[in-house]
Amino acid sequence: MSPSPWMVPVTALRRNVGARRMERRSGRLGEIRVVDTSVRDGGAATVEVVLTVVLGGIEVAGTVGARWESSCRRCLRPLQGTVECPVRELYRPAGEDDEETYALGADQLDLEPLARDALLLALPLAPLCSDDCQGLCPLCGAERAGAPCGCDPVGGDPRWAPLQALVSGAWPEPAGAAEPAAAAAESAPPSDLRSPSHPSHPSDPSDPSDPSDPSD
Ligand SMILES: [Zn+2]
Ligand SMILES: [Zn+2]
Repeated sequence: MSPSPWMVPVTALRRNVGARRMERRSGRLGEIRVVDTSVRDGGAATVEVVLTVVLGGIEVAGTVGARWESSCRRCLRPLQGTVECPVRELYRPAGEDDEETYALGADQLDLEPLARDALLLALPLAPLCSDDCQGLCPLCGAERAGAPCGCDPVGGDPRWAPLQALVSGAWPEPAGAAEPAAAAAESAPPSDLRSPSHPSHPSDPSDPSDPSDPSD
């Protein structure tokens, strides 16, 4: 009946200060994206809240939940997860509302802006597939967690890296499959990936202290 799953009738509720009512609503919020992370299923979300009539408005407190999809910021593997964030907001009569409150209609309130705002703040900006994700080799773009690619990004002469990779049988995929953009996301611009003047990635906080073995 209701044109939007987020519209909650409050006419009867508003008559008594202190009155409470639980609401559980699910529906779509439309596109919600933060950087590379977006809410799945066309923005499907769930809101579970208790409405409490207070002097001058209605307090809405509970949780907003949704499933999201993104990609690991180090290795670019596709990721997904769920987010459930607490909300506690005040709805005040339209005209009396401000930046910190939501507008309360004469006979209904709209949970959609509350749910959108909560999810935009709660979605992970730069998720990792795991805390110790090794990311991609800055020289050849291979996943560091997989079979060793043969590159030596810390020590040695990086100009030999392609040859070493060839010798160890870990030559990168043919152009196109190697995804230069994937390696670039690590922290360096693509043009630096094989530059002799950039033998290592000093700005990479995930770099192991020294994977090269001096006794090698
Ligand atoms: Zn990863
Ligand atoms: Zn490599």
